[in-house]
Amino acid sequence: MKEIDGRGFRMESLGIYIHIPFCIRKCLYCDFLSFPKGRAQQALYFDALEKEILLSATGCGKYEVQSVFFGGGTPTAVMPEAIVRIMKALFDNFSFKDDAEITIECNPGTADLDALKAYRNAGINRLSIGLQSAKDDELKRLGRIHDREMFEECYRNAIKAGFENINVDLMSALPGQTLTDWEDNLKYVCTLDPAPCHISAYSLIIEEGTPFYELYGEDNENKDIAVSVNMQDGSEYCQNPRLPLPDEDTERQMYHRTEEILSSYGYRRYEISNYSAKGKECIHNLRYWQGGDYLGLGLGASSLMKNERYHNTSDFERYIETLNGDFSIGEAEGKDGAISLSAENQRLLDIREDVEPLDEKARMEEFMFLGLRLTAGVSANEFRSRFGKEIGEIYGGVIEGLREKNLLEWDGDTIRLSAEGLDVSNYCMAEFLL
Ligand code: SF4
Repeated sequence: MKEIDGRGFRMESLGIYIHIPFCIRKCLYCDFLSFPKGRAQQALYFDALEKEILLSATGCGKYEVQSVFFGGGTPTAVMPEAIVRIMKALFDNFSFKDDAEITIECNPGTADLDALKAYRNAGINRLSIGLQSAKDDELKRLGRIHDREMFEECYRNAIKAGFENINVDLMSALPGQTLTDWEDNLKYVCTLDPAPCHISAYSLIIEEGTPFYELYGEDNENKDIAVSVNMQDGSEYCQNPRLPLPDEDTERQMYHRTEEILSSYGYRRYEISNYSAKGKECIHNLRYWQGGDYLGLGLGASSLMKNERYHNTSDFERYIETLNGDFSIGEAEGKDGAISLSAENQRLLDIREDVEPLDEKARMEEFMFLGLRLTAGVSANEFRSRFGKEIGEIYGGVIEGLREKNLLEWDGDTIRLSAEGLDVSNYCMAEFLL
């Protein structure tokens, strides 16, 4: 992903992910790195995050930022001023493309009109709203903090604040959900006025360590138990006992109806779970699937930079203390008593974990199984230019095997999963492990 800038320099393009780990309370299915924290802890976090931005920018001089994504957690659950401050730090320290896509994830009930205007004025131009369901009973069962009315208010305010590029997230296979319920949710979003230009439609996954795992995890199938979570103020929020999850057949029908319904409203599926109006694909997420460099900033954030993967610590105290803390005398002082740049950079290394240089084999595997998530597939020419080898030389047998099963198509330069292949994408992608 190289481009020539106006001065003739080769610029690499970059995506920046900013993790905001705070939520009002934990949803019952959530295993993301997120938790409730008070304002004082949040303030310390933003001090540390700003420091990480300043330090990271010094190593990114050759990059031009093409996209930023504020994810979480709930980025809109913090004071808008904190987000505005982070945007300023980014603009002050990185070069940006004029048309950079800058997204903030937003949960209904956490952003009013003034907050949405503040994000827009700060340069954020894309909003990703976590609706998940348009039915209040489903939302309650998920432990979400909002209802449909709050979503509608949020959506209206987003339009008023000037957001034109809006994604809405929906989640299928929810407890007690029927096929008709899911179809209603899809149609509800497609008929919003104006309609959002992007819809992400994922299935609920029951993750270990969540309250839902207590209800629905292995060996718990017949338990009749209630689960509870704590609110930010420590009070307990209780849920009803378990309702059955949709069976496999229903889940499969939901999956198929998603594409049928969304395409009938003009959305094009461009990734297994993502649909958009023409030209409104999420640039930031495309970068993940196409193997572009991205820098993750904030607690637990993952990066892929110059063929090296790593992530930041998930330890809140360690993140804050390392970035905000003083250096001990002698360890970091330069001759004139100033903290040296290399010592400052050491702080970045100290919050990094699992640094993994990607060898050629790992890069080829990722090129295939991330790229094949896209309906556009992967390019054989691109493979040759990245690795200096023909794709058939490395994957000829796998490609042929999947073609024979009608799971994959190879049309000139392009290799993509067929509709049947997308149905069993996990199986197909596993075949590309070398
Ligand atoms: S709002 Fe999102 S990140 Fe926060 S608890 Fe719910 S699912 Fe997790």
